[in-house]
Amino acid sequence: VIAKELQTLIHLLGKLPGMGPRSGRKVALHLMKAPEKHMRPLTQALDTALEKVAICKVCGNLDTCQPCTICDDAKRDTTCLCVVAEVADIWALERSPIFRGKYHVLGGVLSALDGMTPDKLNISTLLDRLHQDPVEEVVLALSATVEGQTTVHYLMEHLARFGCRVSTLAHGVPMGGELDYLDEGTLSTALQGRKVL
Ligand SMILES: [Zn+2]
Repeated sequence: VIAKELQTLIHLLGKLPGMGPRSGRKVALHLMKAPEKHMRPLTQALDTALEKVAICKVCGNLDTCQPCTICDDAKRDTTCLCVVAEVADIWALERSPIFRGKYHVLGGVLSALDGMTPDKLNISTLLDRLHQDPVEEVVLALSATVEGQTTVHYLMEHLARFGCRVSTLAHGVPMGGELDYLDEGTLSTALQGRKVL
């Protein structure tokens, strides 16, 4: 009874993170109720993002320029590199002005259960980067979850030969998941109190 075109829309919406078939149907109906008001701006935003936003070839950030604004910013401290799991973590850290170094996005954390092996993360690009531009400190801003800490240990082994200082965020703060969920103050404290490994 549902038109094929609508089924496709529901299916695609339902596949998005945090969604499911039920949410897919709900959102599709919401969009169709006022197509010009809800749907047109969304399709335009999708088109624009698809056309203009891309992954930075240096750090993995998302931006409209290549390399991204952060990589290209001469005022930022190139001696300090902050390794994060996702682009959302850059956004979280950038909400407070405390970190002025550069970033590297891994694209996830190691997880045997989810099939996230080292080759699926941007680890080789990180090591290449450190070869080319040695830094004084690498901050591993990864979550306090088992996966986050497994990733920290893995990276530690590979970073040892670069002779740079490696630090992690202070986890004295309640931190069970993504950096994105932390408020500015908590994140600043975690960054300021970072521990050298
Ligand atoms: Zn970049």
